[in-house]
Amino acid sequence: MANLNLPDPAAKPRIVVVGGGFAGLNFVNRIDSHRYQVVLLDRHNYHTFAPLLYQVATAGLEAPDICGPLRKTFRGKPDFHFRMLQVHDVDPVARRVHTGAGPIDYDHLVLATGTRANFFGNTNIATHAFPLKTVPDARRLRNQIFQTLERADLTDDPAERQRLMTFLIVGGGPSGVEVAGALSELRRHVLTHDYPDTPMDQLRFVLVEGEEELLSTFSDRSSREAYRNLEEMDVELRFQTLMTDYDGRTATFRDGSTLECSTVIWGAGVTGEIIEGLSGESLERARYRIDNHLRVAGYENVYALGDVALLTNDEWPRGHPGVAQVAIQMGRRLAENLNNIARGRPTKAFRYVDKGNLAIIGRNRAVADLPRNLHFSGVPAWFVWAFVHIFYLIGFRNRLFTFLSWVGNYLTYNRAVRLVLEPTLDEELREEGVDAGNRPGLRGPATGR
Ligand SMILES: Cc1cc2nc3c(=O)[nH]c(=O)nc-3n(C[C@H](O)[C@H](O)[C@H](O)COP(=O)(O)OP(=O)(O)OC[C@H]3O[C@@H](n4cnc5c(N)ncnc54)[C@H](O)[C@@H]3O)c2cc1C
Repeated sequence: MANLNLPDPAAKPRIVVVGGGFAGLNFVNRIDSHRYQVVLLDRHNYHTFAPLLYQVATAGLEAPDICGPLRKTFRGKPDFHFRMLQVHDVDPVARRVHTGAGPIDYDHLVLATGTRANFFGNTNIATHAFPLKTVPDARRLRNQIFQTLERADLTDDPAERQRLMTFLIVGGGPSGVEVAGALSELRRHVLTHDYPDTPMDQLRFVLVEGEEELLSTFSDRSSREAYRNLEEMDVELRFQTLMTDYDGRTATFRDGSTLECSTVIWGAGVTGEIIEGLSGESLERARYRIDNHLRVAGYENVYALGDVALLTNDEWPRGHPGVAQVAIQMGRRLAENLNNIARGRPTKAFRYVDKGNLAIIGRNRAVADLPRNLHFSGVPAWFVWAFVHIFYLIGFRNRLFTFLSWVGNYLTYNRAVRLVLEPTLDEELREEGVDAGNRPGLRGPATGR
């Protein structure tokens, strides 16, 4: 068998899992590694709790608070092996995947690679916008937010300051709503105090959405609540508005209008993280088509789980929602089924149990749609949201630290993590030819503003 320094699985079948997100993690957790050798491959050596990425981007939490090191998570699991590798392609005939460090053979392959930002082929937007899919994305966005404000504090050109202080959020789904709400709270409780020389009334957060409402996958009541809350928080909302281009300074919309802005936060679309090599028939809408036993169409021993999988049935004719619960439940179902196969027991078809939808908008502001048409908003929904998110974080350390950070932030209205960790401001100013002679320096006391 092709190796990568793995022990010979001897008589046991080898399962290769690609992706240590919600689906891969829950699969590995449940699979019986006395009966299978389990090899997990991920390009990162940690699991990311994506629902809290916006908190890292807006200085509420640090990256390690929302990540779990994969080796540590499965330390002690027998015949489990992790390799930090990007998988490039699959050869289903040879039953082999190719990685940067060489090939590895499998008996069963589990694809749980999630999604990546979709810029719909627009290279300008891909170059200049800030997606929020990974920890490096969140840290990059945090640097951008604080560095841009530092820049705004240096200029005495009002038009340039207005451009710098205009942030555009594209997409009114849960991520867009959560980021917009968090930025608005940051303005109110932190930035106003931290930047006394910068006119905070110029700081604009504009959220554009192509459809007619926010949170379109939630109940109408939650959509309306989100709208009301964001309006109260001075987020400018524009509906039926599609951004068609962004060159790093000017966003252009389909109706021809434009907006000068320093930062575009992209939450408008994702596409499946597809690994080359499987037949075209197994793909639909950039997802692997799977049956109700989670097998990729056309393959007996290749499975797909979570966001990268497309499972349609009468209940979900357009496929299941791209949420953590679907990935978790798929991971657990497949593990149980493979365990049952190994024990000569029957398998069960996957059926999604919808536990509802939660979104946070700000302090004491959240919406929760629960099964049986139960709906909460405001303080109760905020507490449900906080409890659920702490409960699902991996690891005691993460739960404890996140809980303590939130209690601290809640009591003090503070955001501790507002550090620019990879400063590029000086370099940028130099590149733009802003030398000591014409640098937009501090305003002298005589000129005022
Ligand atoms: C900002 C944000 C907020 C969200 N908020 C919520 C929320 O509040 N509630 C909710 O239910 N859902 C939320 N989601 C969606 C939720 O995170 C996803 O549904 C869930 O992560 C899907 O799990 P997954 O295992 O399919 O993929 P992921 O969790 O994305 O994991 C995929 C893994 O595969 C790895 N990988 C990908 N390609 C390769 C490759 N070629 N080689 C090696 N490794 C690879 C990646 O590094 C990653 O670790 C949010 C998502 C984002 C981005």
